[in-house]
Amino acid sequence: MQSMSEEHIFVGSFAHTNEAGELITVDHGAIYVKNGVICNIVVNPKSIDTKNENVTVLSKSQFLVPGFIDCHTHAVQLPNLGIGYDKQLLDWLDTYTFPLERKYKDEIFSDKVFDAVVKHTISQGTTTACYFASLYANASLILGRKVATIGQRALIGKISMNDKRDDGYYETTKESIANQNKFIDDINGLNSPLVKPIITPRFALSCDMTLLKELGKLAKEKNLHIQSHLSENIDEIIAVGNKFPECSSYADVYDVAGLLTNKTVMAHGVHLTDNEIALLKQRDTAVIHCASSNTCLRSGLCDVQKLKKNGIKIGLGTDVSGGSSCSMLDAMRSALQVSTHLSFVKTDYKALNFKDVFHLATLGGATALAMGDKIGNFAVGKEFDALVIDINVKDTYLNDLREYTLEEKLEKLIYSGDDRNIAGVYVSGRKLK
Ligand SMILES: [Zn+2]
Repeated sequence: MQSMSEEHIFVGSFAHTNEAGELITVDHGAIYVKNGVICNIVVNPKSIDTKNENVTVLSKSQFLVPGFIDCHTHAVQLPNLGIGYDKQLLDWLDTYTFPLERKYKDEIFSDKVFDAVVKHTISQGTTTACYFASLYANASLILGRKVATIGQRALIGKISMNDKRDDGYYETTKESIANQNKFIDDINGLNSPLVKPIITPRFALSCDMTLLKELGKLAKEKNLHIQSHLSENIDEIIAVGNKFPECSSYADVYDVAGLLTNKTVMAHGVHLTDNEIALLKQRDTAVIHCASSNTCLRSGLCDVQKLKKNGIKIGLGTDVSGGSSCSMLDAMRSALQVSTHLSFVKTDYKALNFKDVFHLATLGGATALAMGDKIGNFAVGKEFDALVIDINVKDTYLNDLREYTLEEKLEKLIYSGDDRNIAGVYVSGRKLK
């Protein structure tokens, strides 16, 4: 591991996007990093001493991209990755997910799983993760410590649920608020600039309005991020309507509780009505597209172009283990495939392309998490969260058997690459892989 108190210079090609979502490629450039922050970017640099130990020169098959941002994933669900896709959301939760999540009272088990989650996702290029942790504050804190120690950037959410269940997997409202407050203090007490708590009501069906409102109040008082699930599955939406008949829609339940803010990310949003989309836009709340999960649990095809057209901030989520992979490359591919499938059934729908999903996985996600001023692309003043991509690694699917443009190399990575093509991972200038 390497800390960068001195200036370090990366020389080579890089690709990233701007706020408008346009792809920018630089074939020969230099990115200067000091104390983890980008302090200068030079296109076509002339006189750099490439022998200097503070200079990293990329090879011809390598290029830099911004680190990937997973805006929605469940750290506790990793052991269930790849199983349970014979059920849809509500049955899946009862059959597979809640029984697994109850095991995190065991701190040794928690530590073992979270160690795997953080190391595995970093190796797949996830420099920032927005985690659903556990109902249990102790286990959630173990994840926070793990992330802080290893050096990933993350938002950590202790899950709030007070809906009474026979299996005991819930907290009373009083316990829930007390444990949430303690968890926030404990995470802040880690004093890590990379790790922050995030208010995390599981979803409207797991919480009553009293708890939701308390959480809204807490987020406001402490200026915290908020995450939850919204409009994922038709049966879920019907159940929310039955549980909160006084609210005009699923999104309205969260709005009444003060939970829709410009620091809120809502996973899924597959079946949002026009009124709900308008409400999210008004509150500047982001939707996190979880294409793999929406397919595996047969929740539906999310119309990302419609959300984009309506000015909704959008990020991508692996949504493990509703989604079947921890890899943001897979999340990008799933988003591409779902979008293409949608174009088969909707004649006026234009499918997303690889540049669109690359943007969603980097600056789009950063903007969704209200971190667009800090991360997401290469700009002076932003933190150096970056990946060194290599498309010529022995025994992998990619190669440089012919000449490729940088744009083609990026396209190959997104469609056909895997973690072996991620040769380097940096968070705030610190090398993690
Ligand atoms: Zn989820």
